[in-house]
Amino acid sequence: MQTNRTNILQKISESLRYANRPADAAELLAVSKGQPLSTIEPLIKEGQRAFGENRVQEAADKFSTLRTTTPDLRLHLIGPLQTNKVKVALDLFDVIETVDRPNLVEALAKECAKRGTQPELYIQVNTGDEPQKAGVAPQSLPALLTICHEADLKISGLMCIPPTHEAASIHFAFLAELAKRHNLQKLSMGMSGDFECALHHGSTEVRIGTALFGPREATEITEI
Ligand SMILES: *Cc1c(COP(=O)(O)O)cnc(C)c1O
Repeated sequence: MQTNRTNILQKISESLRYANRPADAAELLAVSKGQPLSTIEPLIKEGQRAFGENRVQEAADKFSTLRTTTPDLRLHLIGPLQTNKVKVALDLFDVIETVDRPNLVEALAKECAKRGTQPELYIQVNTGDEPQKAGVAPQSLPALLTICHEADLKISGLMCIPPTHEAASIHFAFLAELAKRHNLQKLSMGMSGDFECALHHGSTEVRIGTALFGPREATEITEI
Protein backbone atom coordinates (compact mmCIF):
# COMPACT_ATOMS: atom_id res chain seq x y z
CA MET A 1 0.00 0.00 0.00
CA GLN A 2 1.29 3.44 -0.98
CA THR A 3 1.68 5.97 1.82
CA ASN A 4 2.21 9.67 1.75
CA ARG A 5 5.38 9.67 3.83
CA THR A 6 7.80 11.08 1.25
CA ASN A 7 5.48 13.94 0.51
CA ILE A 8 5.07 14.81 4.18
CA LEU A 9 8.78 14.60 4.91
CA GLN A 10 9.30 17.01 2.05
CA LYS A 11 6.76 19.46 3.49
CA ILE A 12 8.40 19.19 6.91
CA SER A 13 11.83 20.00 5.53
CA GLU A 14 10.45 22.92 3.49
CA SER A 15 8.71 24.34 6.57
CA LEU A 16 11.91 24.02 8.58
CA ARG A 17 13.88 25.75 5.86
CA TYR A 18 11.43 28.67 5.66
CA ALA A 19 11.57 28.97 9.44
CA ASN A 20 15.36 29.09 9.31
CA ARG A 21 15.66 25.96 11.41
CA PRO A 22 18.07 23.05 10.88
CA ALA A 23 16.81 20.18 8.69
CA ASP A 24 16.87 17.77 11.65
CA ALA A 25 15.11 20.11 14.09
CA ALA A 26 11.82 18.21 13.92
CA GLU A 27 10.72 14.66 13.38
CA LEU A 28 7.67 12.96 11.97
CA LEU A 29 5.65 10.95 14.44
CA ALA A 30 3.36 8.59 12.51
CA VAL A 31 0.07 8.41 14.40
CA SER A 32 -1.02 4.83 13.81
CA LYS A 33 -4.05 4.67 16.10
CA GLY A 34 -6.92 2.91 14.38
CA GLN A 35 -4.55 1.58 11.70
CA PRO A 36 -4.01 -2.14 11.20
CA LEU A 37 -0.59 -3.79 10.90
CA SER A 38 -1.11 -4.02 7.15
CA THR A 39 -0.72 -0.25 6.87
CA ILE A 40 1.91 0.13 9.60
CA GLU A 41 4.34 -2.45 8.22
CA PRO A 42 4.84 -0.83 4.80
CA LEU A 43 5.62 2.45 6.55
CA ILE A 44 8.31 0.72 8.62
CA LYS A 45 9.73 -0.67 5.37
CA GLU A 46 9.93 2.89 4.07
CA GLY A 47 12.07 3.80 7.06
CA GLN A 48 9.57 5.23 9.53
CA ARG A 49 10.59 4.48 13.11
CA ALA A 50 8.63 6.84 15.38
CA PHE A 51 4.98 5.94 15.96
CA GLY A 52 2.28 7.47 18.14
CA GLU A 53 -0.63 5.60 19.69
CA ASN A 54 -3.32 6.96 21.99
CA ARG A 55 -4.45 3.74 23.67
CA VAL A 56 -2.12 1.58 25.72
CA GLN A 57 -3.87 -1.72 24.99
CA GLU A 58 -4.21 -1.12 21.24
CA ALA A 59 -0.53 -0.19 21.11
CA ALA A 60 0.46 -3.32 23.02
CA ASP A 61 -1.61 -5.51 20.70
CA LYS A 62 -0.08 -4.04 17.56
CA PHE A 63 3.49 -3.29 18.56
CA SER A 64 4.63 -6.01 20.96
CA THR A 65 5.79 -8.22 18.09
CA LEU A 66 6.93 -5.39 15.80
CA ARG A 67 9.15 -4.15 18.60
CA THR A 68 11.17 -7.36 18.59
CA THR A 69 11.44 -7.54 14.81
CA THR A 70 12.33 -3.83 14.53
CA PRO A 71 14.23 -3.00 17.73
CA ASP A 72 14.85 0.64 16.84
CA LEU A 73 11.15 1.56 16.73
CA ARG A 74 10.29 4.49 18.98
CA LEU A 75 6.80 4.42 20.44
CA HIS A 76 5.10 7.51 21.84
CA LEU A 77 1.98 7.50 23.99
CA ILE A 78 -0.11 10.49 22.91
CA GLY A 79 -3.38 9.62 24.67
CA PRO A 80 -4.40 9.86 28.33
CA LEU A 81 -2.71 7.43 30.74
CA GLN A 82 -4.63 5.89 33.60
CA THR A 83 -2.59 5.10 36.70
CA ASN A 84 -3.57 1.42 36.55
CA LYS A 85 -1.94 1.17 33.09
CA VAL A 86 1.38 2.72 34.09
CA LYS A 87 3.28 -0.60 34.19
CA VAL A 88 2.11 -1.70 30.75
CA ALA A 89 2.85 1.77 29.40
CA LEU A 90 6.38 1.70 30.81
CA ASP A 91 6.96 -1.74 29.28
CA LEU A 92 6.01 -0.45 25.85
CA PHE A 93 6.60 3.25 25.31
CA ASP A 94 9.84 5.17 24.82
CA VAL A 95 8.09 8.50 25.25
CA ILE A 96 4.99 9.34 27.29
CA GLU A 97 3.67 12.70 26.13
CA THR A 98 0.60 12.98 28.32
CA VAL A 99 1.77 13.49 31.89
CA ASP A 100 -0.81 15.91 33.26
CA ARG A 101 -1.62 15.40 36.94
CA PRO A 102 0.02 14.76 40.31
CA ASN A 103 -1.34 11.25 40.90
CA LEU A 104 0.01 10.13 37.52
CA VAL A 105 3.40 11.65 38.35
CA GLU A 106 3.35 9.76 41.62
CA ALA A 107 2.50 6.44 39.95
CA LEU A 108 5.15 6.95 37.25
CA ALA A 109 7.79 7.98 39.78
CA LYS A 110 7.16 4.95 41.95
CA GLU A 111 7.39 2.49 39.07
CA CYS A 112 10.39 4.22 37.45
CA ALA A 113 12.27 4.17 40.75
CA LYS A 114 11.60 0.45 41.02
CA ARG A 115 12.94 -0.14 37.50
CA GLY A 116 15.82 2.28 37.73
CA THR A 117 14.91 3.74 34.31
CA GLN A 118 12.46 6.27 33.00
CA PRO A 119 11.07 6.92 29.54
CA GLU A 120 11.22 10.36 28.01
CA LEU A 121 8.34 12.35 29.48
CA TYR A 122 6.40 15.38 28.22
CA ILE A 123 3.69 17.28 30.01
CA GLN A 124 0.46 17.78 28.10
CA VAL A 125 -0.83 21.33 28.48
CA ASN A 126 -4.49 22.16 27.95
CA THR A 127 -3.61 25.47 26.29
CA GLY A 128 -7.23 26.31 25.56
CA ASP A 129 -8.41 25.51 29.10
CA GLU A 130 -11.09 23.25 27.64
CA PRO A 131 -13.02 21.40 30.36
CA GLN A 132 -13.41 18.17 28.34
CA LYS A 133 -9.76 17.96 27.32
CA ALA A 134 -6.85 16.25 29.04
CA GLY A 135 -3.75 18.21 29.97
CA VAL A 136 -2.69 20.43 32.83
CA ALA A 137 -4.10 23.96 32.92
CA PRO A 138 -1.38 26.44 31.90
CA GLN A 139 -1.46 28.17 35.29
CA SER A 140 -0.87 24.81 37.03
CA LEU A 141 2.14 23.88 34.90
CA PRO A 142 4.81 25.36 37.23
CA ALA A 143 3.40 23.43 40.23
CA LEU A 144 3.27 20.19 38.25
CA LEU A 145 6.87 20.66 37.11
CA THR A 146 7.90 21.12 40.73
CA ILE A 147 6.13 17.90 41.68
CA CYS A 148 7.96 16.05 38.89
CA HIS A 149 11.26 17.50 40.00
CA GLU A 150 10.67 16.48 43.60
CA ALA A 151 9.69 12.98 42.44
CA ASP A 152 12.95 12.72 40.48
CA LEU A 153 11.18 12.53 37.13
CA LYS A 154 12.89 14.38 34.33
CA ILE A 155 10.54 16.22 31.97
CA SER A 156 11.93 16.94 28.53
CA GLY A 157 9.08 18.66 26.73
CA LEU A 158 5.52 19.85 26.34
CA MET A 159 2.64 18.67 24.17
CA CYS A 160 -0.66 20.30 23.23
CA ILE A 161 -3.79 19.74 21.18
CA PRO A 162 -5.24 23.16 20.30
CA PRO A 163 -9.00 23.75 20.45
CA THR A 164 -10.66 22.86 17.16
CA HIS A 165 -12.31 26.21 16.62
CA GLU A 166 -9.45 28.57 17.33
CA ALA A 167 -6.39 29.54 15.34
CA ALA A 168 -3.81 26.88 16.17
CA SER A 169 -0.95 29.35 15.78
CA ILE A 170 -1.87 31.17 19.01
CA HIS A 171 -1.67 27.90 20.93
CA PHE A 172 1.59 26.84 19.30
CA ALA A 173 3.18 30.18 20.15
CA PHE A 174 1.90 29.89 23.71
CA LEU A 175 3.23 26.35 24.19
CA ALA A 176 6.60 27.38 22.75
CA GLU A 177 6.73 30.28 25.19
CA LEU A 178 5.94 27.98 28.13
CA ALA A 179 8.66 25.55 27.07
CA LYS A 180 11.18 28.36 26.80
CA ARG A 181 10.23 29.76 30.18
CA HIS A 182 10.81 26.36 31.82
CA ASN A 183 13.83 25.46 29.75
CA LEU A 184 12.28 22.39 28.08
CA GLN A 185 13.64 21.32 24.70
CA LYS A 186 10.92 19.18 23.14
CA LEU A 187 7.70 20.55 21.68
CA SER A 188 5.14 18.05 20.43
CA MET A 189 2.67 20.08 18.41
CA GLY A 190 1.10 20.03 14.98
CA MET A 191 -1.19 17.46 13.38
CA SER A 192 -2.28 16.77 9.79
CA GLY A 193 -4.09 20.07 9.33
CA ASP A 194 -1.62 22.44 10.97
CA PHE A 195 1.85 20.90 11.14
CA GLU A 196 3.47 23.49 8.89
CA CYS A 197 2.27 26.23 11.20
CA ALA A 198 3.52 24.28 14.24
CA LEU A 199 6.97 23.90 12.66
CA HIS A 200 7.09 27.63 12.14
CA HIS A 201 6.50 28.03 15.89
CA GLY A 202 9.27 25.65 16.94
CA SER A 203 7.66 22.21 16.99
CA THR A 204 10.23 19.42 17.35
CA GLU A 205 7.72 16.69 16.62
CA VAL A 206 4.63 16.70 14.42
CA ARG A 207 2.02 14.03 15.10
CA ILE A 208 0.48 13.02 11.81
CA GLY A 209 -2.21 10.44 11.17
CA THR A 210 -4.73 11.27 8.47
CA ALA A 211 -2.35 13.03 6.08
CA LEU A 212 -0.09 9.99 6.22
CA PHE A 213 -2.48 7.05 6.19
CA GLY A 214 -5.74 8.54 4.92
CA PRO A 215 -8.88 8.51 7.05
CA ARG A 216 -9.03 6.00 9.92
CA GLU A 217 -11.99 4.31 11.55
CA ALA A 218 -13.52 6.62 14.11
CA THR A 219 -11.33 6.71 17.21
CA GLU A 220 -11.56 9.98 19.00
CA ILE A 221 -8.60 12.18 19.69
CA THR A 222 -7.60 12.77 23.24
CA GLU A 223 -10.70 14.13 24.88
CA ILE A 224 -11.21 12.25 28.10
C1 LIG B 1 -5.17 11.34 16.41
C2 LIG B 1 -4.18 12.25 16.97
C3 LIG B 1 -3.28 12.93 16.12
C4 LIG B 1 -3.29 12.82 14.61
O1 LIG B 1 -4.34 13.52 14.06
P1 LIG B 1 -4.45 13.69 12.47
O2 LIG B 1 -5.34 14.86 12.32
O3 LIG B 1 -5.05 12.42 11.95
O4 LIG B 1 -3.10 13.93 11.92
C5 LIG B 1 -2.33 13.75 16.72
N1 LIG B 1 -2.27 13.90 18.06
C6 LIG B 1 -3.11 13.25 18.91
C7 LIG B 1 -2.97 13.45 20.37
C8 LIG B 1 -4.08 12.41 18.38
O5 LIG B 1 -4.92 11.79 19.24
